[in-house]
Amino acid sequence: MKTLKKDIGFATKSIHVGNDPDKTNGAIAPAIYATSTYVQEAPAKHLGYEYSRTHNPTRSRLEECLNSLEGGKGCVATSSGMSAMSLVLHSLKEGAKVLCGDDVYGGTYRQLTTIFHHKLNIEFIDTTDTKKTITRIKSFKPDLIWLETPTNPLLKVSDISAIAKASKENKSHLLVDNTFMTPYFQKPLNLGADTVLHSMTKYINGHSDAIGGAIVTNNTKFLEKVRALQNSLGPCLSPFDSWVILRGIKTLEVRMDRHQENAKKIASFLESHSGVKKVIYPGLRSHPGHRIMKKNTSGFGGMISFYLKGGMKESNRFLKKIKLFSLAESLGGVESLVEQPATMTHASIPKNVRESIGIEDSLIRLSVGIENINDLINDLDDAITFAIKK
Ligand SMILES: *Cc1c(COP(=O)(O)O)cnc(C)c1O
Repeated sequence: MKTLKKDIGFATKSIHVGNDPDKTNGAIAPAIYATSTYVQEAPAKHLGYEYSRTHNPTRSRLEECLNSLEGGKGCVATSSGMSAMSLVLHSLKEGAKVLCGDDVYGGTYRQLTTIFHHKLNIEFIDTTDTKKTITRIKSFKPDLIWLETPTNPLLKVSDISAIAKASKENKSHLLVDNTFMTPYFQKPLNLGADTVLHSMTKYINGHSDAIGGAIVTNNTKFLEKVRALQNSLGPCLSPFDSWVILRGIKTLEVRMDRHQENAKKIASFLESHSGVKKVIYPGLRSHPGHRIMKKNTSGFGGMISFYLKGGMKESNRFLKKIKLFSLAESLGGVESLVEQPATMTHASIPKNVRESIGIEDSLIRLSVGIENINDLINDLDDAITFAIKK
């Protein structure tokens, strides 16, 4: 394999890094090494692979590729986003202090508050308030800061670079869940974060056909800790899923461009529709996080939330009529998805709390796919018109 230059572009990395042709037969596509163990020439004399919980050549390729896209010192691919999180939290000492955004992914909140709350000193804070967050970092001196931006489903934006500066000054470890943006639009490590976490289930894989997670970090000591924990606890990504995701990543740039192009058009269509009360998309100038996104990211992604005029009745009528957008949780695949946060992803939050934070019955979340834009807009138009018809 020719050595690649350091400054190659994003799409070139996603197609070539970790994708050297097979040395033994020249196959351009990587093999799925479906093997549990590796034959040793003599005791402890092997080719770097001993057992597939610890290492697997297909998984190594994926780790190399994602690491290069995020610009880290190493990557660990895990069986899900949630298991990647568990490795991070297991790496902390008993009593360690964690400062976490108060609007993070539901599963993140659940893992912190039902599994790790005995061990860790956890505090939640509105990280979209940069000043308050920095002040709290200085007084609380967290060991770990957990940031997710933009959030789900209200797409609230936090200032990674400002928070990273305060994190460094206080010797905290800053982790950013980069699932919504992907390294194509947002590179937290370049903005000063120590570690990036992914649910590769979403945009990284992009085809809604695998579950996977990853940790990419700039901290080599932390990397070795996480590797050791993965080996001890066992949440490794299978060779087949590693292969599926490595294949998905090759088109990450063109997919993200198209997700965003469609999302921008849909956001402005929705803004002009008489059946829509409000549109939330960070690419709109009306979005409160727009300015920070412009500073820290190179794009706004493919997720949109909006409030229909009306309530649960109109929302249900909309969901009954919509065709191309499939009613499902999850996001980030090539196909468009739609969901009702109040009864689906955020149903576990009590109604009064939910409504106080903006998750009303009329809120609809879209994961905009890469289908033909006219078809998507016509579908939305039909469903909204039907929903609000008297
Ligand atoms: C889906 C998701 C996760 C969890 O990942 P899994 O692969 O489902 O375990 C974590 N963070 C965000 C932002 C997500 O969307």
